[in-house]
Order: sequence, then structure tokens, then C-alpha cells
Amino acid sequence: MNKEWIRTTLRQVEPYKVPVISESTVINANESPYSIFDFPAVKSDFLQRLERLPSYRYPKPYADDLRKALGEYVGCTPEEILVGNGGDEIIGLVCSTFLEPGDTILTHWPTFDIYGIDASMTGAREERVPDKDGFVRSAEAYGQAVKEKKPKVTVICNPNNPTGHLWSTDEVESIVAASDRPVLVDEAYLEFSGLESSIPLIRRYDNLIVLRTLSKAFGLAGYRIGYAVGQKEMIDALALTKATYNVNAVSQTAGLVAMAHRDEILGFTIPRIVRTRDFLARELKEIDGIRVYPSAANFILCRVPDGAAAVKALSAADIAVRSYKASALRHCLRLTATTKDTAERIVAALRKEFSHA
Ligand SMILES: *Cc1c(COP(=O)(O)O)cnc(C)c1O
Repeated sequence: MNKEWIRTTLRQVEPYKVPVISESTVINANESPYSIFDFPAVKSDFLQRLERLPSYRYPKPYADDLRKALGEYVGCTPEEILVGNGGDEIIGLVCSTFLEPGDTILTHWPTFDIYGIDASMTGAREERVPDKDGFVRSAEAYGQAVKEKKPKVTVICNPNNPTGHLWSTDEVESIVAASDRPVLVDEAYLEFSGLESSIPLIRRYDNLIVLRTLSKAFGLAGYRIGYAVGQKEMIDALALTKATYNVNAVSQTAGLVAMAHRDEILGFTIPRIVRTRDFLARELKEIDGIRVYPSAANFILCRVPDGAAAVKALSAADIAVRSYKASALRHCLRLTATTKDTAERIVAALRKEFSHA
């Protein structure tokens, strides 16, 4: 095929690569260890609703029932929510709605790759403000960068993936206030942080978009349900380029069920995952040469003496983890906190690899 047929802004794009995995314990994508089918009441509710779902009908284009239920969960009206095919779609919509060739998207670095990848497809450029030592971010420095560089879109990932670093709601607000253009606050991991959401700030900031997802805390990564929260005009703008039927009917149903049983699901999963995360952090710190970065999410970032050796040792223990090519993350591993049993296997494998008697 003639490569020049491809839109110029797409020719340089490096697609997001999902690794092929052979290990049976997978802790490389921050997935939940729990399924909604683990809860008998949730399972029967879901199956009954599926049976009544007419497969020949198109889904609701704006997932009206689901956006109403999500609105009740996060404290806003349905018009202030846009449901997406995962949070990833929301990131794409932010880029395609606001970015033009030559624009900048500002990120703190390291962070989630998708912001830069989706921005590059529009011909925009990612500009990165590096974290301080220990992957700590300065809200003051970031707000200053926003004022100086005047990016078209500013990104805040809170808690941050992959570092786990958390900004307070006041710190987030100071950055939102520093920009008179769109600011995306990605709260994919908020439920694990114990922090209040930044969503109430949409009342005061017309430039704020908050991204949430059911992939992590609700264990629905496979069903692809994410959502944006913002003022109605912002939501209408983000919907301009969305596919008409972007969220299928089975997923909308699963999302409704998750919302109907949200206290039962979160009450079970969050304390367990948080306990595993804190256990992992405590145990890994005790191993020679491993540095653990404090995390408010469902994963732990740590730096080990030899990243390649750690990946190999964990793979030999049948565990797949996330490692990185970027120099800032050299010898770093991101370990998803799942069950205590998996955490104990991780700790044992790394202790065996790095402890020298
Ligand atoms: C997982 C994740 C998302 C959204 O994931 P979806 O499965 O597409 O909802 C968004 N942002 C960050 C930082 C994530 O880690």
C-alpha cells in the first residue's frame, strides 16, 4: 500500500502495543482480580437483565440509563456525563475535539502513554514536565508550566499511572485554575486513593473534564465502560466526534448492574486490594536494593537492582509484570495489587532473586 495515502499526522504514530502473555498470573495491566460474577446477587441481576435485552435493537447512543446511574454515583446530572468505550475513548475524544496540528498537550512525566499517542494522531505534540526525585510531582511547578507554555490541553493523572503519586484536591484545583483551556483530570484509580473526587469542581471550572472508568475498581475492563464528567457544554463538545453507538448494549447493562450493586462491589474489593497494595509495599521495602514508591492506586511502582532479571524471575514464577523502556523508568516494575496470595508469590520470587545471604 502507498503510505502517502495515510493522513500526514498519522504517519509518525507509534501504536500502543499490548504484549503477548504466556504467564498465568497477569499483573501487568492493573486489572482487578474480582469479577462481577463472584457476587451471586450481581450475577443473577446481570443474567436476568441480559435475557430481557433485545439483541436486534441498537443501544442507546448516550447510554441514558447508565449516565443517570453514574451521575447518582458521582453526584452530578446525566447531562454532565459522557459514557465512552472505556476511559481510553474519552482520552481520544478530548484529543480529537480540542487538538490541532502544532498544538501542545502538557503532561507530567512519567505517566500513561495514551495521552501522547492520541495527541500525536491529531498532529499535536506532547510536552512533558518531569517529576522530581522519587516520582514526586510539584503542583506549583506544574501550574507554573501551564502558565508559561499555555498548552491547548493539560493532563493531570491522579493518582498517577505508573507512579501512584497523588495530588490533593486543592493541588488539582490550583492547576485547573492556572489554565484557561481544557484540563483533563484522569481519575481512573480514584476509588483506591481514599481521596475525594475533583468532580465537584466542574461547578466552578468550565475547562475541567474528569475521566473515570469501571475498568479498575469495578473489575469491568473487558466490558469497556469509561466516562467523562464536565459541564454540559463540555460534554456536548466531547460528543462531537464520538461514534453514534459507541457503547454496546451488553456493556451498558453491565455498567447499570455495577451501579445498582456498587456498595457491595466496592465494599468487598477496595479494602482487599488496598490491603494487598500496602502489604506489597511493606514487604518489597525489606528486600535488598528495592526502592518502593508510595502509591495511592491499585499498583506499586518499584525500582529493582536489575529490571530484566526481575522480569525473568517473576516469569519463571508464572507472573507477568509491566516493565518500561523509558530511561526515567529504567529498572522499574509496576506490580498490580490483586490478592494476598499473588502478592506473596511476587515477594518470594523477588526476595530469592535479590537477597544475598
Ligand atoms: C486504565 C486507565 C484508563 C482507562 O482505562 P479504560 O479501560 O479504557 O477505561 C485511563 N487512564 C489511566 C491512567 C488508566 O490507567
